Amino acid sequence: MIHEILPVGPLQCNCSVIGDETTRDAMVIDPGDDIEDVLALIQKHNLRVKQIVITHAHIDHVGGAMKLRAATGAPILLNQNDYALLKMLDMQAAWIGMRPPGEVKIDEAVSQGRVLKIGDISSSVIHTPGQTEGSICVYFPAEKKLIAGDTLFAGSIGRTDLPGGSMDKIMRSLHTQVLALPDDTEVVPGHGPATTIGEERETNPFLQK
Ligand SMILES: [Zn+2]
Repeated sequence: MIHEILPVGPLQCNCSVIGDETTRDAMVIDPGDDIEDVLALIQKHNLRVKQIVITHAHIDHVGGAMKLRAATGAPILLNQNDYALLKMLDMQAAWIGMRPPGEVKIDEAVSQGRVLKIGDISSSVIHTPGQTEGSICVYFPAEKKLIAGDTLFAGSIGRTDLPGGSMDKIMRSLHTQVLALPDDTEVVPGHGPATTIGEERETNPFLQK
């Protein structure tokens, strides 16, 4: 599996480009900004983008989605519980001093358990409300990899003080869904360095009983 991680935009959101080495089909997760750089990576690996997956409707994760869709023709996928937040992108842009990205249109809603296929690579959607109502993680069981969005970070967890955030819900999502994964699962968070489920289970101060 091809996997490139590119920090994009002023908040350095980790955008993932995931591709199948045989079919060259690809998925882009969280194209928040810097779409020219994302497209250069896609070209470098000679990939065809089939899906644009958004882990949650915060501007740093979804800001470049329409531009990537225009360039690739790939549909944009988001959990339906974040549609309301998507209508507040202009306000989100003002908060962090970004240019408003304009309206983002979702092509397909993705719920808990939805299987996403890229060539021979299979992943599934884990609904992890808390940071936002519609936050999801994308889990690749064969590759033992979790794209965690802003639900789990190395040594921290997503903030829950923004609209739609809930500390109760994020703790429930982390303990019942995320920590249910095997310890040797690599975690690629929405920002900052990669980690593993085992490392976070042991040392993350927010996850200690
Ligand atoms: Zn973020």
